[in-house]
Amino acid sequence: MFDDERDLDPGRLVMSTKGELDAEENALRPKTMADYVGQSKVKENLGVYISSAKMRGEPLDHVLLYGPPGLGKTTLAHIIAAELGVQLKLTSGPAIERSGDLAAILTNLNEGDVLFIDEVHRLNRSVEEVLYSAMEDYALDIIVGKGPSARNIRFTLKKFTLVGATTKAGMLASPLRDRFGVLCRLEMYTPAELAQIVTRSAKVLGIEIAPDAAAEIARRSRGTPRIANRLLKRVRDFAAVHGNDRVALGDARYALQRMDIDELGLDDTDRGLLRALIEKFGGGPAGLETLAATINEDANTIEDVYEPYLLQLGFIARTPRGRVCLKGGYEHMGMKMSDKQRRQTSMFDEE
Ligand code: ADP
Repeated sequence: MFDDERDLDPGRLVMSTKGELDAEENALRPKTMADYVGQSKVKENLGVYISSAKMRGEPLDHVLLYGPPGLGKTTLAHIIAAELGVQLKLTSGPAIERSGDLAAILTNLNEGDVLFIDEVHRLNRSVEEVLYSAMEDYALDIIVGKGPSARNIRFTLKKFTLVGATTKAGMLASPLRDRFGVLCRLEMYTPAELAQIVTRSAKVLGIEIAPDAAAEIARRSRGTPRIANRLLKRVRDFAAVHGNDRVALGDARYALQRMDIDELGLDDTDRGLLRALIEKFGGGPAGLETLAATINEDANTIEDVYEPYLLQLGFIARTPRGRVCLKGGYEHMGMKMSDKQRRQTSMFDEE
């Protein structure tokens, strides 16, 4: 029930989690590096590694992509496989329950294939250990039998490339992290890049949109393409019921207001978090779990989905003693900071 209710909650738009919307999402994914907007450093470096691997006739080294949800990790994995001219197999950390499941996936790969493991930090230990020799030696070590008669049998695998994605690089066990030869951190997108993405997505979806309306959606998408695409679709809905074929700036503003998404793209949960931090904890520091319980949100969701953008805006800071609200956060909420709080947080404010 609760889940159903949340599906209807417009605030959910900024959740940027994956779900049943995957099919639509796939339709919007750019297919080539050239169409992949932004992330220029990552794109350039990957381009070099891909060309070099192709020239040497060897598989690409294992790649770890990290950054908040919705920034284009899965999309990039598709593009890497396409540019290498190989097949892509997709799975995720929590989906691989037993080491046998991983062994089955690995033995089915063809030479050079790309295996994408989303949420790679959520692999369980025994599965992770199978991955070590697979990544390093393209080999699968299987123990047959029990006790003194147990034997280790080694299977050779076809050479493959693992592309791992994670929102929490820090949670990856170091033996696993060390086995990735290429580490790419995805950054949040600028409004101009997001406007380009919105315009491109509108074209794919057959929506006509004015440039200033695309810019408005972009500005309020929290630096995240997945959110930009979702907002575009909802804005289209509002414009359509108002009988407007072409989405104008007014339509975008009206729809965003109806969804309670403010000038900076913050929604009710973001504002609730800032308000709780200011009103209930005197601006902080407040521990993540305590804060989560106060606003009735999941701590992981706060950490992965809400905080990255609030941190980027400089509205909050993470300190060893918990989260604190900074000057920008107070100003955005129209609240005044006490002198004591100002002194305590001045080292985190850039000015
Ligand atoms: P992640 O795997 O990081 O959660 P995805 O790769 O699933 O994110 O991207 C979410 C959506 O955002 C996709 O539908 C894709 O169309 C869009 N997207 C992501 N990055 C880009 C980009 N650089 N250019 C254009 N669209 C993008």
